[in-house]
Order: sequence, then C-alpha cells, then structure tokens
Amino acid sequence: NPTTTESAVVDGSALAGRALAAAGVSHMFGVVGIPVTAVATRAVAAGVRFIAFHNEQSAGYAASAYGYLTGRPGVLLTVSGPGCVHGLAGLSNAWINTWPMVMISGSCDQADFGKGDFQELDQIAAVKPFVKVALKATSISEIPRIVQTALVTAVAGRPGGCYIDLPTDVLHQTISESEASSLLSEAANPIPPQIPDPEITEVEKAVSLLRHAQRPLIVFGKGAAYARAEGAVTKLVETTGIPFLPTPMGKGLLPDTHELAATAARSLAIGKCDVALVVGARLNWLLHFGEAPRWSKDVKFILVDVSKGEIELRKPQVGLVGDAKRVLDLINREIKDDPFCIGRTHPWVESIRKKAMDNAAKMDVQLAKEVVPFNFFTPMKIIRDAISAQGSPAPILVSEGANTMDVGRAVLVQREPRTRLDAGTWGTMGVGLGYCIAAATADPDRLVVAVEGDSGFGFSAMEVETLVRYQLPVVVIVFNNGGVYGGDRRTPEEITGPHKGDPAPTSFVPGAAYHTLMEAFGGKGYCVSTTDKLKSALSESFSARKPAVINVIIDPYAGAESGRMQHKN
Ligand code: ADP
Repeated sequence: NPTTTESAVVDGSALAGRALAAAGVSHMFGVVGIPVTAVATRAVAAGVRFIAFHNEQSAGYAASAYGYLTGRPGVLLTVSGPGCVHGLAGLSNAWINTWPMVMISGSCDQADFGKGDFQELDQIAAVKPFVKVALKATSISEIPRIVQTALVTAVAGRPGGCYIDLPTDVLHQTISESEASSLLSEAANPIPPQIPDPEITEVEKAVSLLRHAQRPLIVFGKGAAYARAEGAVTKLVETTGIPFLPTPMGKGLLPDTHELAATAARSLAIGKCDVALVVGARLNWLLHFGEAPRWSKDVKFILVDVSKGEIELRKPQVGLVGDAKRVLDLINREIKDDPFCIGRTHPWVESIRKKAMDNAAKMDVQLAKEVVPFNFFTPMKIIRDAISAQGSPAPILVSEGANTMDVGRAVLVQREPRTRLDAGTWGTMGVGLGYCIAAATADPDRLVVAVEGDSGFGFSAMEVETLVRYQLPVVVIVFNNGGVYGGDRRTPEEITGPHKGDPAPTSFVPGAAYHTLMEAFGGKGYCVSTTDKLKSALSESFSARKPAVINVIIDPYAGAESGRMQHKN
C-alpha cells in the first residue's frame, strides 16, 4: 500500500521514470513543469534521453515521427491542462498518420479535481478522440503496469497514440524499494500481440489477379515503410516487373530512380491500371479515394493493411489483413512456385516508362533554367544535387510548406526507405522542427535536411535553440517568399476597407532574417539569394553536420496560392 513513512524511498515520479526505462524507452520528448519535472529527471537518471522542447506541440510532433522512424512508441511528456492541450497536436498527428506514440501528462491532485485546481482539466476526456487507450494511474502501484500497457497498445495492430495520466498526488506517493522492484518485474515483458496472417486462399486470389492483369500496378505508402517492407516489395517488383508508385512518404522503399518507378507518370499509372496492389496506404484523398475519374472505374484493388476496419471501409476485390512485410513475403512465396514477369517490352510497362521519361525531360528543362531572383525550382535543383552527393546513409529529408513541399516532392530524390517526413495525411503545417529533432535522435548517423516554407518554419522556429542545445546534425533550409504562399501581392485596388493599412493575411515581414534566429543561439546562419551562395552554404553546412539555418530568399511572386491544392479552396 502507498505510504508516506520515512522507510519509503521510491516516489511516483521515480517509479514512472524507471518503468519507462525498464520497458525499453530510450528517448522522451517534452516540456517540463509542475508536476512532471521530476518524472523527466528520474527518467534521465534511469537512462532515458530527455529532449526538452519549448512547446509541447513540436515535442508531440517529434514523438509521433520518432514512432514512425523506429517502430517503437515515441514518448511525449507534458504538464497538466495547457501542456496536455498543446500535446494533443502530436497525439492527433500520431492518430491520423497511424504512428505509435505515448503521451504522458501530469494532472491535478485527484482530491482537488472539480474544485478549479491549478491547470485542472478532464484530460482523459480531452485525449479520447485521438487515442487507442487512455489510462489514469489512481495510485502509485498502478504506474508500471499502465506504462507497459500503453507502450504495447501503441504498437499493437494498427499503430497509434495512447495516453497516460499521472495525477500530482500519485506522483508524490511513495513505496519501498522492494515494492517498487516487484511492481516493475511484475509489469515487465508483456507478450506483444501478434498480427495474424491472412488466409492463404486470399493470398492466392491476389496473386492470380496480378498474374492475369493487363496493366498491373503496385502502390505502397508509409504503412509499408513503417513495416520495413522494402526488401519484400523490391523482390516483388523485380520478379514480376510490375511498375510501382509510392505515396509521398512511401518514396525510397525502392529508389525513385528505379526503371519501374511510375512516379513521374502518376496520372497515367493510376488512370489506366486494371489491377492495383495497394500496400500500407489508405485510399483517402491522397489517392483520390480509389474512385473514377482519377482511377479507372473497373480497376480491381488488392489492399494490404494491418487494419481490418480500413479494408472493410474500402471494399476491395481482395483484402489482405496483416503486416505489410509478412503479407508481401507470402505473396512472393506464392509466386515463387510459378513465377511470372510482365517484361520490359510489355506495352503497359513501355507506356509508363515513356510517359515518365517525357515528364522527367520536361522537368529537366524547367530545372535547367537558372532563375534569379529565385523561383522554387532553381534552389530546389541545387538542394537535390547537394543531398544526392551525400551518398549513403542518405540524409533524412523533412519537407513542409505549400509550394515548397509540392516542388520538393517532384524534384528531390529519395533513395532509401523512411528518409522522407512530410506534412502527412492531414497536410499539417508546423511539423518540421519537431520532425527534424525526432529524425536526428532516432538515427544519429544520418544528416537531417529540412526544406520548409517560411510559413511552416514559423510555427516552431524557436526549436532551432533545441537543435543547438543538443548539437543535432540538422540543416534547416527556409524558402522565404515573405508569407503563406507568397508575400503581399494585392493590387492597390484590392486594398480597401477600414483596415487597409494592415498587411495581407497571407504576408509576413518581407525579407525576414530567419538565419539570425539560429545565430542568436550560436548556430550557423546563412542568407542566400544567388546560386553560388546557396551551393557554398549547402556544402559547408552539410559537411559541418551542425545546426544551421539557410535563409533562401525567394521571389514573393513565385508561389501559387494553395500550391497544388487550389481545387480544395
Ligand atoms: P500514405 O499516406 O503513405 O498513403 P496512409 O497513412 O494513408 O499512407 O496509410 C498507411 C496505412 O498503413 C494505414 O491504413 C495503416 O493501418 C497501415 N499500416 C500501418 N502499419 C502497418 C503494417 N505493419 N502493415 C500493414 N499496414 C500497416
């Protein structure tokens, strides 16, 4: 039983820190304060690396991306009330992208709940829409079990966020060392639930559909990347010769430069394929709901997803519920006994290759022009070449912004799996700095390069201090065109009404010196507006592998409003 006697030596904060370390948590992201500062310091003492942020929103984005990159839940620590509310950004991001994450928030004293206590909030109710499970420790003895349950649940089946609520009084309760040890060992090593394989008859149906297709296509997304299915999908593509189309974050499972890549022939590939094997990617807005007219109305879908609900929602011809890597292994095994390959000279493969080459040639013409003051393409090509020159392990690219992300997706090249983090399923702006920090801590061997619009950068620009404090190898390239989509482009006639002295809602201070923000903390800042200066800033900062901001001055008239999403406006 909890006691407060002098013989008691382990409090709730120490027990939580030890439970996290015992469960294998190696990193935690967050913002400390009442009542969780000691949870952070105790976790650090137990061996966890704590990355302290300025804002829980960025820390939460970091935790979610860490979960995606490592396959282990990213852990976010927040204070109660407002800290929990800020953390919801990260938790909802984990939910919508199906990434494993655990948010731990302190909460007010249980005895004072309902009386208007300091930072009081019904946090269990607040997190509900975004979590697989929300658990509150009502006594210190529950902490180890709850920590384990949340961590296991986050990765079980379809990954997602889980929540742990640690009330102040529980953090202050104490138990003896021997009680703590036995609670920790009782909670240890729960058996993670296995994802069952799909029925073999369904695998046979899928293979038969692929085998008899005239115009087959393999589409894969970040669920396949999360499942580490790169080996299996490469084998499938290379034995069958079927062209493939990655979603933006699926890019890199096979190199973008692969001869069967249909990325540069996307409209043709999805518009004309008759059988599409879609692995770890939802048929949501990003894939035009799998509907005509973007897809052929007769296309037959084979969907592979860990979520049965996702497959039931889409009603494909064949649904294979299971882990992407495992299901692709089963498909490869089924093909092995009676292999087929559609061949390089097949009209379908040739038409895709030809279209992709034509589009690539058009893009090359655009990239060959050196446009100064910069448009989006000229600096993007220089950045592409500088990233490619890095070789292997390839840098992790973080990308956000409207025009910056659109142009970046078309121009930048992904060669290795899980090297692209972008605005994701919601198209969320403001994820960039959190993702950079997650990438640099999850994979310390890789350089991290963020290519961001000035608007996206502004959401969490203060976290450049975090980059400097932890000396992370992150180069943030800001495409600075003076606003959201661009600067103030109104004609004098458009500037009317009582507030006509105000800047346009889309605009920021023109020519903002974002690089000096980094310099303020001792990092390296560059401001560039010519090709030579950009090349030398990239070469210097990539080889230094130290925190840097490159402020790239872009023509304020260069970007389109809403980027390529004008139809949603
Ligand atoms: P993208 O944005 O790349 O199109 P989505 O986020 O829409 O990808 O889809 C990812 C899908 O992957 C989700 O439906 C999720 O359930 C699924 N998924 C997650 N983990 C796995 C896994 N291990 N195996 C198969 N599917 C998975």
